[in-house]
Amino acid sequence: MTTERLYFQDAYLTRFRATVVERLTWEGHPAVVLDRTAFYPEGGGQPADRGWLNGVAVVDVRTRSDDVAVVHVLAGDLPADEVEGVVDWPRRYDHMQQHTAQHILSQAFIRAAEAETVGFHLGERYTTIDLDVEVSPDDVARAEELANQVVEENRAVTARFVPQEELARLNVRRPPKVTGPVRLVEIADFDVVPCGGTHVAHTGEVGLVAVTRVERYKGGTRVTFLAGRRARADYARRRALLAQLGDVLTCGEEDLVPRVERLLTEHKAATSALRKAQERLLSVEAEALWARAPQVNGVRIINAPFDDRDPDLVRKLAGMLRNRERAMVIFGWQGKDKARFVFARTEDVDVHMGQVLKQVLEEYGGRGGGRPDWAEGGVSIPERVPDILATAARLLESMIS
Ligand SMILES: [Zn+2]
Repeated sequence: MTTERLYFQDAYLTRFRATVVERLTWEGHPAVVLDRTAFYPEGGGQPADRGWLNGVAVVDVRTRSDDVAVVHVLAGDLPADEVEGVVDWPRRYDHMQQHTAQHILSQAFIRAAEAETVGFHLGERYTTIDLDVEVSPDDVARAEELANQVVEENRAVTARFVPQEELARLNVRRPPKVTGPVRLVEIADFDVVPCGGTHVAHTGEVGLVAVTRVERYKGGTRVTFLAGRRARADYARRRALLAQLGDVLTCGEEDLVPRVERLLTEHKAATSALRKAQERLLSVEAEALWARAPQVNGVRIINAPFDDRDPDLVRKLAGMLRNRERAMVIFGWQGKDKARFVFARTEDVDVHMGQVLKQVLEEYGGRGGGRPDWAEGGVSIPERVPDILATAARLLESMIS
């Protein structure tokens, strides 16, 4: 049975009496169809209302496709046949503000950029419209300005049903998606469009239309915006964010950009200076390791454990020593929950470091390997780094003795 939709006549109606005409199960939940309802079912880009029927929470509202009955999906059983419905008003009013803003903004984009709206989605946090063409930042600014002008002018927003035949005579923004009488929503002297959604009575109630994001989308443009209380809350959030940034950077709003730019420049210079200093330190360290390394048959075995060192710096150090002559490098360090190793050698030594590392780590239940001149691996006993290096050193000594 088709439900009488009370919100068509009055979007501000939040309490109503109705009779249960059907009980059913909808996706595992108890559900009812009423003879009349003020609940808006999901559709046309607008989410479903929430609320209560005799105090039982309405968790979803859907239109049944075969007979367009409005199905109220409930959190629990509803034994009574006569019910009082209460619509969750803050949620509904938010949807009315966003939806009306969408009508205003869609018409504004036609006037500012000849861009037609081909998609609309009212989300939990943001609302988007999809335009059929790409628009410039200037177009967006003009459309936003025009939309807010229409908000300020507080124009009447009205809805009426007209027969299909009448549509041809009216300047309707897009053709209807339904057959039979069509519900037209009109913003006085600005916009007329077929729509089954809920809207505020005057554009002033939209308060503010704020475009927050513009991106290319399917050959056109996706415009994200906020209206009404959402826009106000967003403005408050942004002010708080700027104030917080000002506190952190100890400067006023107008100095934020130059301050951050200066910090980035300083950071870049400091990073570059640090890198140069690290490289100088590494050369000194390489020299010290080289000098104290024992030699077997003229080949140095450079064995060193490292604590709390950036693994990339350890690798770099190994790389510097590998570029010398007649040396083998065995480095290990404690990673987060692993001991890690780099084994390397100079070009003039005939030992396969990949095979050596593999053999040594297998003894300790670890894994590793690599090329003859460079190998890496790890084992999950971080505290055994010195033992493992000693084992490797003994093996290398025996190989070149
Ligand atoms: Zn609408």
